[in-house]
Amino acid sequence: MRELLRKNIANLVPYSCARNDFVGEAEVYLDANENWRDFVGDQGRNRYPDPLCTQVRKALDEVLGLPFAHTVIGNGSDEIIDNLFRCFCNPGVDKVIIMSPTYGAYRVFADINDVLVEQIPLTSDFAIDFDALEGFLGQEKKRREGGKEDGRSKLLFICSPNNPTGNAFPLEEIERVCTLFEGITVVDEAYYDFSSLGSAVTLLPRFPRLVVLRTLSKCWSLANARVGIAVASEAICKVLTSMKYPYNVGGPSQELALKGLAQADKVQQVRSLTLGEKSRMEEALASLSCVVKIFRSDANFLLVRVGNADELYHYLAQKGIIVRNRSRELYCENCLRITIGSKSENDRLLAALAAYEEA
Ligand SMILES: *Cc1c(COP(=O)(O)O)cnc(C)c1O
Repeated sequence: MRELLRKNIANLVPYSCARNDFVGEAEVYLDANENWRDFVGDQGRNRYPDPLCTQVRKALDEVLGLPFAHTVIGNGSDEIIDNLFRCFCNPGVDKVIIMSPTYGAYRVFADINDVLVEQIPLTSDFAIDFDALEGFLGQEKKRREGGKEDGRSKLLFICSPNNPTGNAFPLEEIERVCTLFEGITVVDEAYYDFSSLGSAVTLLPRFPRLVVLRTLSKCWSLANARVGIAVASEAICKVLTSMKYPYNVGGPSQELALKGLAQADKVQQVRSLTLGEKSRMEEALASLSCVVKIFRSDANFLLVRVGNADELYHYLAQKGIIVRNRSRELYCENCLRITIGSKSENDRLLAALAAYEEA
């Protein structure tokens, strides 16, 4: 793993904040230049939060089985994605691999970090194209060994279940990618909690260059709190911890995460409701003549091909219902991505679609 890191990160002497310098319990803290008075709520808001999110990580271990020593918490998983670029990719030199159509943020973070993106598109039925992947990796290796190229593909992103297509990839396929790719394989499991397929977390003991991303933003109903999770080898966790902003997750967010994780049974109930609504919506949408195809979804949204996505998008927006128009993504012509909402929200969408058909 170390040879994949940027040199400046491998050699980094991390900033040591007050909460890192002294670990333990004391009666008087005069080490962080905080104000002694908490006048907004007497909840310790005058104090810096725990940089290591210790309580949250303990709860993640207990509730989700994500091993404590193998987690790093980010300000959303978006922060972790950005930090992976900053750890591994030399700007203007290295590359990353994405499999389109997929989560748009990977490309944006690549652009921000001046990192080239190699697209290895999914097949038109949204499966991993192993022929193309092996072909590309083989050629890259040859070029590198022939001394023709300085940079290399450092990160490969697999989003599973994939956004915006909705399908999860079988664990054997993810395992196969981890075996083929000599860089860091990042498996973004933002929608894992909705899926019935296995988690890449189970592959971690065998693949030290694997990073699995989870988030509390989707199934855990805490998008507002900004809590994302990297699960990885201790060595990768150490690097991610060394280079992140010291206090990257605020105290209120850590508290919200703890509150949410303490209510796993309620989350489970809401998840069942959502999945029930997903089946209902699949059936109802399938009966509409404006719907051409509904793609299989392992997440809490449906990718739906319609007759005219732009027109329908604007029609719904004008009725106050916003869906995501994904028509311009590869293989997603005339596709809308529809989040499964509450029963009444879903009913409003169905009513609007019924009116659209009549118009
Ligand atoms: C929503 C989403 C995330 C979540 O990002 P956060 O920053 O944790 O809110 C990550 N990856 C994908 C693919 C998503 O769709």
